[in-house]
Amino acid sequence: MAYDFDFFVIGAGSGGVRSARIAAGHGAKVAIAEEYRVGGTCVIRGCVPKKLLVIGAHFAEDLVDARRFGWRIEGQSFDWPTLRDHVLADVDRLNRAYQSTLDTHGVTTFHARAELVGANRVRVGDREVTAAHVLIATGARPQVPDDIEGAGRGITSNEVFHLEALPRRIAIVGGGYIANEFAGIFHQLGSSVTQVLRGNRLLKEWEPALADRLLAISMEKGIDVRLNAAPSRVEQLKDGSLRLHLAHGRTVEVDQLLWATGRVPNADGLGLEALGVQRAHRGQIVVDDRGATNLPWLHAVGDVTDRVQLTPVAIREGHALADRLFGGRDWRVDYDHIPSAVFSHPPLASVGLTEPEARERLGGVRIFTADFRPMKNVLAGRDERALYKLVVDAASDRLVGAHMIGPEAPEILQALAIAVKAGLTKAELDATMALHPTMAEELVLMR
Ligand code: NDP
Repeated sequence: MAYDFDFFVIGAGSGGVRSARIAAGHGAKVAIAEEYRVGGTCVIRGCVPKKLLVIGAHFAEDLVDARRFGWRIEGQSFDWPTLRDHVLADVDRLNRAYQSTLDTHGVTTFHARAELVGANRVRVGDREVTAAHVLIATGARPQVPDDIEGAGRGITSNEVFHLEALPRRIAIVGGGYIANEFAGIFHQLGSSVTQVLRGNRLLKEWEPALADRLLAISMEKGIDVRLNAAPSRVEQLKDGSLRLHLAHGRTVEVDQLLWATGRVPNADGLGLEALGVQRAHRGQIVVDDRGATNLPWLHAVGDVTDRVQLTPVAIREGHALADRLFGGRDWRVDYDHIPSAVFSHPPLASVGLTEPEARERLGGVRIFTADFRPMKNVLAGRDERALYKLVVDAASDRLVGAHMIGPEAPEILQALAIAVKAGLTKAELDATMALHPTMAEELVLMR
């Protein structure tokens, strides 16, 4: 049977665009549909604009620290619309770059919502097309608790980049990636930040010593962290501000409320039910390690499969799928040792097993830590310590985990992730000469 396209991709985010581009490069006739903006969450309202805000926010501390290094900048001030508009302009630039990549590879772009209407059949806008293979790469969306009265009065990470004005007081609900990143951003930019946790720990999946260090530093900086404070109701007050009701009768009054309470797969309204596509408890599309669903012509990659919600993972999944379907190359994404970072102030970065995970899975474990004040902090009079932690398998001496909190931790950890991935031993780290004076030299000096 002749199809209109060899490959039809629904969703032009990180995974979808990569898959479409690689498939087109292999000679496939490819179309992609996007109902919002080409680029997806990471480029349009995630990693990229967030990281730019993190960089922008860090100047607040740098300008304070600069005084100890002899600099005086009179009349300094911060203007949120300037930062916001420059960030959004860069998002526009990237959006154009992504579109141009698709165009130069001959991918047909439909700026419309698409859904499946039969086997190998997609309705896109007011057209119906057929394709030999269809990829669902529709990502995920912020999850707002549906059992909290007035929750709709808050915003999510979708809206946060477009705020008219910097809120004077903001409550951020959550203790995960997004909550910690935006708590840092708003605090640095001058908002009064209350971070609301239903439990008593930040970043539950992370190395506990690092999460504890972030909590201590956040509180020391002046972020008001409320523990064991599950929100129950959001009330709008006469002056337009919000009163957030928390467990044990506590309340907090703010001008803005940000829900950072996880993300759910975008798999509704795609026509999956009628086709019998297998989904799991969070609505995610069930796939095997090759991105294959239970239908031979239908595939899924990225956050809609709810495996690892990280951009580089979606990109690799999309790439592997296109290579397999159209490039004659069948390879699997390796999910071991995926590094990740939280761009909080200061940032955290991690790869491999945490200490509790290693103790559970391995016979014996050796732990090495470096707990130090980076020299810039010392001169700046900033009592903020970095913490690096290495987890080593006692039997083989292999490095099985590395965890860091401190300035530039994500930049340093990306290189260290190679050592963990390569299965290098602690002895090999020790044999590496230190590069002095750096923070990273601590990694080869831990004894
Ligand atoms: P996370 O899963 O990281 O954290 C969700 C947080 O929300 C948890 O602290 C959770 O609490 C809390 N929570 C959930 N429901 C409620 C509720 N009803 N009331 C109060 N608190 C609640 O989600 P994020 O939204 O921060 O990020 C989503 C995903 O996006 C991340 O997991 C990550 O994969 C990706 N991401 C990655 C980034 C990066 O790489 N730097 C940046 C941003 C996002 P509890 O701990 O008690 O369950």
